[in-house]
Amino acid sequence: MAKQLYLIKEGEISLKGLNRAFFEKRLKNNIKDKLRPYHSSAERQKGRLFLHVDEDCPAQQIERALSTTFGIVGWARAIMCEKDPEVIRKQAAALIQGSGERNWKTFKVAAKREDKSFPVHSYDLACMIAEVIHEIRPELTVDLRNPDLVFHIEIRNQAFMYTDSGRGPGGLPAGTAGRGLLLLSGGIDSPVAGFEMAKRGLKLDCLYFHAYPYTSDEALEKVKTLASKIAPYLNGTRLFVVPFTQGQLNIRQKAMEDATTLMFRASMMKLASQVVSTEGMQCIVTGEALSQVASQTLAAMSFTDSMADYLVLRPLVGFDKEEIISVARHIDTYETSILPYEDCCVIFSPKHPVTNPDKAVMKEHYESLGMQEFIDGALKETKIYSYNARGEETGVWSFASHLDRNRAEEEEN
Ligand code: ATP
Ligand code: MG
Repeated sequence: MAKQLYLIKEGEISLKGLNRAFFEKRLKNNIKDKLRPYHSSAERQKGRLFLHVDEDCPAQQIERALSTTFGIVGWARAIMCEKDPEVIRKQAAALIQGSGERNWKTFKVAAKREDKSFPVHSYDLACMIAEVIHEIRPELTVDLRNPDLVFHIEIRNQAFMYTDSGRGPGGLPAGTAGRGLLLLSGGIDSPVAGFEMAKRGLKLDCLYFHAYPYTSDEALEKVKTLASKIAPYLNGTRLFVVPFTQGQLNIRQKAMEDATTLMFRASMMKLASQVVSTEGMQCIVTGEALSQVASQTLAAMSFTDSMADYLVLRPLVGFDKEEIISVARHIDTYETSILPYEDCCVIFSPKHPVTNPDKAVMKEHYESLGMQEFIDGALKETKIYSYNARGEETGVWSFASHLDRNRAEEEEN
């Protein structure tokens, strides 16, 4: 079957030395995952990745895949032909004719001759293509500064031509930096935090504390939607939904009112640490930003940190709300995040939360609440939803059965 061709420009990967092959392999696999069920293959040539995809794969799916895969800074839909001036002319004409009715008024040709043995020099090549364009669209004028259409031609082992290109999200391929657990609430911040850490190559699963009936089924649906929306950037993810109502009620009953939020956050860290441990992950990620709310002061975050058994990453710590919202809009989570279903922190919030907690006092207070029993109980009832790299939900199962399966696999090995 004929293939569609895309040229891909890698970002930071191209700066890697000996371990570049590791990053590149992951990038290729991440792209392939998104193009399924269609077949694709990628090869590297002089600083570019050449991606070949089955002809019947919709261009929209390919372009969405390339725009959401970390490790890619840019892509172009290209055609490839023999390095023969006559063939090039014909193919260039076909490319312009096949572009349909675009609102172009001006154009420029960007010609590059990687293969110096090709007899036509870049400038002459550009003039030749400009002539072809003029024959088909005589109304277009040349504008070298700000053209509507840029026609690229590159002479390598073959001739490559493209007009349509787009940007990738940059960063490093998800899965090259280890694995972490994102605490995903229904708010604006945490999906953005997941996006930012996936950009640095973390493979993330998500965990949501659900306090039904204090938080509604709609609140859970909202978090599931957010997980599916960030899944393409994460190259697929799982969402652990932890029913934590009993734990929350225990905190409300036994904790000092001012400290309820901190006690909840401490339990979140303890429970998340347990999941990180059983799943063989290395860190916890949250959407906290310094001083955004009472539980995000230095003292409060230092206390919650001390309750986690793993590294806690807070990629938004230095972001202000406007910056966070702008990323949320870019990754299309904002409109979902602002839907009005309250998350459990809001309902269980004290009127005057502690902002400058004493770590030792708070730790002792936490120990007095007997939370482990509630954490164990909640984990038994935890459900796992999975999402593929295209953001589609692919299944749901219980954490308990998942652990049983893990154990059985371990015994087998
Ligand atoms: P967000 O907009 O992400 O909800 P926030 O500004 O509302 O953040 P908090 O509610 O204090 O702040 O939560 C801080 C972080 O704790 C969140 O970014 C998220 O990582 C985590 N978190 C809060 N509530 C939950 C929850 N119900 N389930 C999972 N994680 C949560
Ligand atoms: Mg919140």
